[in-house]
Amino acid sequence: MITLTDVSMSYIPGAPALSNINLHIDKGEFVFVVGASGSGKSSLIKLLLKEENPTKGEIIIGDRTLSRVRHRQIPAFRRDIGVVFQDFRLLPDRNVYENIAFAQKVIEVPGKTIKRQVPAMLSMVGLAEKYRSFPDQLSGGEQQRVAIARALINKPKILLADEPTGNLDAKNSWEIMRLLEEANERGTTVLVVTHNLEIVNAMRKRVIVMKKGVIIKDIAQGGYIDEA
Ligand code: ADP
Ligand code: MG
Repeated sequence: MITLTDVSMSYIPGAPALSNINLHIDKGEFVFVVGASGSGKSSLIKLLLKEENPTKGEIIIGDRTLSRVRHRQIPAFRRDIGVVFQDFRLLPDRNVYENIAFAQKVIEVPGKTIKRQVPAMLSMVGLAEKYRSFPDQLSGGEQQRVAIARALINKPKILLADEPTGNLDAKNSWEIMRLLEEANERGTTVLVVTHNLEIVNAMRKRVIVMKKGVIIKDIAQGGYIDEA
């Protein structure tokens, strides 16, 4: 599903954020990415979204070679990828229902389908009753559940989450990770950047450890780490 071959990336010439990354993630995998601040985790996500381009190497996602995706093809390319961020990034002036429906309207999903699918997705993330609430009326955990619903509504093949529990307490963090795991069990390939080693070690998934732009460990499913 995702293959990086000898990928390097620099924002500033001579100071690589990522160096010689080789990584293969199969369809249906659940992968944690851990590592200290500045180790290149978010840069990896940006490459996968084609928000940044490698200075060297090649990235393949599904059947697309990213260097061959033209500028005008990028929106279509990103439709196959759901994304969740630490700071939720909901539209503040739209309610929960509209935040999710908006993701469908922009790709011209028929209104009837939207009216059916949004409530179903809200039930799945446990927010069926909150559909008329605005983001600032929700807790952080609830806002992140809306963001996950929005990320999944168009059935992406891949879900990328960059520190999705970074602003949440332990209980909400667990609920969010469970939702990501459920999405994975329904077939989505999931990549989660996190600092929460307690959860990483309890969930026993594949764990990729980054340090200074390099993958220093890649531990198969069942992975346990004592530091990152
Ligand atoms: P992480 O997400 O693991 O904290 P990042 O991928 O954000 O790490 O950053 C990796 C490196 O790239 C760091 O040295 C960081 O300072 C640098 N970096 C990140 N974004 C930019 C940017 N927009 N411009 C210049 N340097 C950047
Ligand atoms: Mg980051």
